[in-house]
Amino acid sequence: MNLLYKSTRNADKTVTASQAILKGLAEDGGLFVPTELPKLDVTMNELKTMSYQETAYAVMKQFLTDFTEEELKHCINSAYDSKFDTEVIAPLVKVGDTYHLELFHGATIAFKDMALSILPHLLTTAAKKNNVTKDIVILTATSGDTGKAALAGFADVPGTKIIVFYPKNGVSKVQELQMVTQKGDNTSVVAIHGNFDNAQSGVKALFEDKELEKELSEAGYQFSSANSINIGRLVPQVVYYVYAYAKLLENEEIENGEEINVTVPTGNFGNILAAYYAKQMGVPIAKLICASNENKVLFDFFKTGKYDRNREFVLTSSPSMDILISSNLERLIYTIAGQDAKKNSELMEALKKDGVYEITPEMKEKLSDFEGGYSTEEETKETIGGTYKSTGYVMDTHTAVAAHVSRAYRDASKDQKKMLVASTASPYKFARSVMTAIDEKYDELEEFALIDELEKVSGVAIPNAIEEIRNAQIRHTKECDVDKMKETVKEILGVEE
Ligand SMILES: *Cc1c(COP(=O)(O)O)cnc(C)c1O
Repeated sequence: MNLLYKSTRNADKTVTASQAILKGLAEDGGLFVPTELPKLDVTMNELKTMSYQETAYAVMKQFLTDFTEEELKHCINSAYDSKFDTEVIAPLVKVGDTYHLELFHGATIAFKDMALSILPHLLTTAAKKNNVTKDIVILTATSGDTGKAALAGFADVPGTKIIVFYPKNGVSKVQELQMVTQKGDNTSVVAIHGNFDNAQSGVKALFEDKELEKELSEAGYQFSSANSINIGRLVPQVVYYVYAYAKLLENEEIENGEEINVTVPTGNFGNILAAYYAKQMGVPIAKLICASNENKVLFDFFKTGKYDRNREFVLTSSPSMDILISSNLERLIYTIAGQDAKKNSELMEALKKDGVYEITPEMKEKLSDFEGGYSTEEETKETIGGTYKSTGYVMDTHTAVAAHVSRAYRDASKDQKKMLVASTASPYKFARSVMTAIDEKYDELEEFALIDELEKVSGVAIPNAIEEIRNAQIRHTKECDVDKMKETVKEILGVEE
């Protein structure tokens, strides 16, 4: 079967998977969605003995139907290799009565590597398939982790350039160092004087700017996106939920067909949407529990049906989730609107104009698979400290948000299904918050001394990604105001009036 994609804001036009990956965002500002979600065509019994790479092929071939077997396997094998520090790629670790799916064993130690290590391969393959001759410029807004993972993925990839915008005071020390020390002649990193939502809205505006598109085209460039709105990021993320279920089965933690719950620490709604897609494909997942930090716009949405971004933006210890406009939610809205592009467009227009929209009661009924929860800064801290004391396991701040929310859900609902928590970053990436949650005394130490202490406390060796930046040279120092992003992009690409 040939699966096609259409925009969440236009019912008429369809594109192939490779075209959707190349474009990133649809011309009308919508997001690409498959016209229907495929069902898994292999059984869990077959999946349970498969490697990560084999699972990836079994899942991705159903979404990316215009890639040949050879092309797709080449992409998969080039992505999931020794860049990961474990052969299983995404290990399952039992912490107390919860299963943590550790998604941070890639090159930049956050879950973004799961998709961004394959996206450059998918994109360059898609460019070849569609006879693209222009250089592809990857424009990316980051709340901290996407930026580095995308830079690492695209550095020195022929035919591409990458420009990353991050919020100047909105990322951790390690996150910033990882980005500003990035090597590669085709990489640029810019700190903006604003927050992640400003960066993301700015990048979206550049994508929709027809005049800029024309100028760049004349200079031999075309834009694409490495943000989680790109279907080429979403599809690889479905893989690890299928893989996790199959491994739980192989390890005899569950019976075949037994339903599990999944909690995902959420920002842009990409990771949890992938879990939802896995459920639609046939993975026995009951509840999808969406965990927010104090920027709890999604918690309020699941409770009331009203999405309202008009509120204070809070800087928290889980910066990769400091987001008030969760882009990927649009794909869910479109689905629960019965794939009604017009209805979805109206709601998204309202969001853009007034910062708020409300779904109908019929739409809200279709959200019963989801459960929202949030964790305060204090609760996140207690979860890290408490888990360390009771089990010796050290988790990062984002994962702790999810761990807190999953615990609160279980206590309140008495739902005893096995719980999978998506563990999205290495604690080394947020060493200060993690170590002070274990003991305030660590706050006196400077960043790398803290990291050395974390190694002693956790018994987990310092990852390569950290050693790399310890003495690395700073290569990127550009900053710009939110309203100067366009000029900055043109300057970097050498496209001047
Ligand atoms: C990006 C990120 C998240 C949020 O994921 P979304 O797909 O944007 O919801 C959570 N935790 C970490 C560590 C991240 O980097």
